[in-house]
Amino acid sequence: MSSPADGPGVPFFELTLLHEDLRVDLDRIWHEITADNAFIGGGAVDRFEERFASFCDVGHCVGVANGTDALELILSGLGIGPGDEVIVPGNTFLATAEAVHNVGASPVFVDVDPDTLLVTAEEITAAVTARTAAAIPVHLYGQMAAMPEILAACDRAGIACIEDAAQAHGARWDGRPAGSWGVAAGFSFYPGKNLGAFGDGGAVVTNDAALASRIRSIANHGRSETDRSLHDLIGRNSRLDGLQAAVLDRKLDEVSTWNEARRRVHASYATLLPSNAIAVSVRSEAEAVHHLEVVRVPDRDAVRDALAMCGIGTSVHYPIPCHLQPALQRDGQSELPVVEQAARHIVSLPMFPHLTSEQIARVASELGRVVSP
Ligand SMILES: *Cc1c(COP(=O)(O)O)cnc(C)c1O
Repeated sequence: MSSPADGPGVPFFELTLLHEDLRVDLDRIWHEITADNAFIGGGAVDRFEERFASFCDVGHCVGVANGTDALELILSGLGIGPGDEVIVPGNTFLATAEAVHNVGASPVFVDVDPDTLLVTAEEITAAVTARTAAAIPVHLYGQMAAMPEILAACDRAGIACIEDAAQAHGARWDGRPAGSWGVAAGFSFYPGKNLGAFGDGGAVVTNDAALASRIRSIANHGRSETDRSLHDLIGRNSRLDGLQAAVLDRKLDEVSTWNEARRRVHASYATLLPSNAIAVSVRSEAEAVHHLEVVRVPDRDAVRDALAMCGIGTSVHYPIPCHLQPALQRDGQSELPVVEQAARHIVSLPMFPHLTSEQIARVASELGRVVSP
């Protein structure tokens, strides 16, 4: 039997190989941006916005400073604020709820589907009150939530549907891309996302021209689009840098290839993982982009420790659900049994486009060795 230290380690995530492939173009981009001095806005931002809108199959894209701002700006643009409730899955990155809180509205957390760990139409419908203004389905781990049913539920309730697509660049449901379903969607270009910048970045995408222009104005100090010196409203500063836009524009050429590589990694894991490491299931209508490879194991913390001993990096997304975070505790929030149970058992395995079949096999075999039967 092998000792835990045998064999090479496997990082949880790595970007070096991905950037090496693009080295020449990335260096050129750096020179172009510094020569043009187009640091905020400018041609690179315009070009990326146009291409990302068409990637998402929508009419408008507004580049912003990060994914959290994207969600917050959508909420502000829709006039959602104090007194409003916004339905958010308990199983998401805290930022989804933070955006709601930061416009003065109250996040109301709901439970998720036990197989996909994604929010469902039923959970949203059950949480609607007279104060509900919107729901934010999150396409967590790179798989879209069941948008046809969720949209129908939001329409029935008369509330806005905002997609949190921060982990789902290029994901589809019945062939239709993430970001093209709700009234608007927020994307993040944090470096570790499927499409990542060289720092923070984000985007709002929407088919609503008026909403897009309102958000563009709010994100740029409330400036009038026709007269720079005129401020129609009090906004804020949340813009996409020229350098980030140029990097993203180049990476957009590759993201479908990288997503395809992630699907191959996921498929290999599916054939190699031990039977008591249960992957989050992918619905047949969904074309997932596997931002994360999340499995459930019986004794999660022991499994993570044992894999760390073999040099295999893992993470947990997310160990403390939003509704149990001290900053977001609120009266009347119900327990979320599926979210709470999942939080104790989920572990995220190494997942990135350049992961080799040897590395996948090593993760699977060590996991088979350490996972308790
Ligand atoms: C990353 C992420 C965000 C926030 O994006 P930032 O760019 O880090 O602000 C929001 N929601 C989800 C689900 C995320 O994964």
